[in-house]
Amino acid sequence: AEASTSMSAFGERHVAKGVGRLTQNVLKKGSGSYVWNDEGRKMLDFTAGIGVTSLGHCHPAVSEAAHEQIDEIVHAQCAIGYSSKYLELCQRLIPRFAKIDPRLDSFFLWNSGSEAVEASIKLAREVTGKNNVIVVQGSYHGRTYGAMALTKSKTIYFERQGPLMPGVFVTSFPFYAQLGVAPTTPEADMVETALHQLRLLLAQQTAPSETAAILLEPVMGEGGYVPAPPAFLQGLRKMASDNGILLIHDEVQCGVGRTGDFWATEASGVQPDILIFAKGIANGFPLSGIVSRKELTDKQKPGTMGGTYAGNAVSCAAACAVLETMDKEPILDNVTARSKQLVDFLEGLKKSSPAGHLIEQVRGRGLMIGLQFKKDLISGDSNHTATNKEWLVDGQKREQLAPKISKRCAEKGMLLLSTSVFDVIRFIPALTISEEEMSEGLKIFQEAFEEVAK
Ligand code: PMP
Repeated sequence: AEASTSMSAFGERHVAKGVGRLTQNVLKKGSGSYVWNDEGRKMLDFTAGIGVTSLGHCHPAVSEAAHEQIDEIVHAQCAIGYSSKYLELCQRLIPRFAKIDPRLDSFFLWNSGSEAVEASIKLAREVTGKNNVIVVQGSYHGRTYGAMALTKSKTIYFERQGPLMPGVFVTSFPFYAQLGVAPTTPEADMVETALHQLRLLLAQQTAPSETAAILLEPVMGEGGYVPAPPAFLQGLRKMASDNGILLIHDEVQCGVGRTGDFWATEASGVQPDILIFAKGIANGFPLSGIVSRKELTDKQKPGTMGGTYAGNAVSCAAACAVLETMDKEPILDNVTARSKQLVDFLEGLKKSSPAGHLIEQVRGRGLMIGLQFKKDLISGDSNHTATNKEWLVDGQKREQLAPKISKRCAEKGMLLLSTSVFDVIRFIPALTISEEEMSEGLKIFQEAFEEVAK
């Protein structure tokens, strides 16, 4: 946390405070699941740069593809022409959507997740001729103005920023902590409650005739690492179809193998009208995109979509290398095996650690696993970099554990994030993490947890 070198002291002084930081490390080098700071300290990275470096830092195939592209052409501007890597990426992606809906074959590429989210809303509004958008409680869709208005996970993301983009409505999400019910509440009951709230929303607040889209993350990220129950996604699909509303899945964080399936949507059997991707797609190069059906994207006039850097050739070359690597190597099998190792360990900790009673739930899919601590009260100050948050547990006041644990892990040489207004640790390592690296991380986590929980 403390500035340890002159460069990190410079950063603390000159990089604006609005960027929250877990540590003041100057990250100089990355390789696989490790990063090194400018003092040569090696750290185990369980954040993958917030779910981005999914094949590990500086994966050789990705770096090589980027190097090659830099010597060919860097900026093949999308309103001027195509880059061959832009087209190759679309070609490589099309079969990846076959399991969801083979009609998903028409793309727009951007730089960041937020931009792609906003593009999906622009498309939905234009296609339907309607204005309103429904999101779920706990959603995170980004920090730019439109995406910020669609984000409902923490007030810190939009405090003092109003008026926000109008026409955004919020429906409930079937997560026990969000609904304020017991963790043991049957999923089917929570799904029914949430779908009932959506029916009411469409009857009381935003008529189907004014609603363009329902937007959500198939596995909620910043809102607490909560998979949307398949029955909820199926219910949303039906309600959207029945009412001429588009369904948009934001797979910015949960896509590209993160959950053990290539897309998180696959497990639900649901066909979204638009799917948004970013992060892991290019292993650290800025790239995002949306895919939809040609009959929908054809409704937009040329010139409605675009951006100077959108679909950068080097980023696309990196993304092609990511997909090629995932074709060749059993990455998804590793996700499943490491996920089991991780979940079994955390469940074991819950049962046998002296502080295990503080763990309420271990949840998630693949290598997107959340550990939920017990809580009776939601913290008012939800900035995840703050550490002085108080909760009531079994009637006693205590601070949130997750932010303190992540700070302690950083001191011990491991990067691990907390998330949401709930007291949650999130495990989101590289999809290529080895068994030994996972064990090493879990050992550090256990020590930090038991020290902090004392
Ligand atoms: N959607 C989701 C689900 C995300 O997790 C994020 C980033 N954490 C975004 C959108 C925004 O992406 P970006 O930060 O690249 O704008």
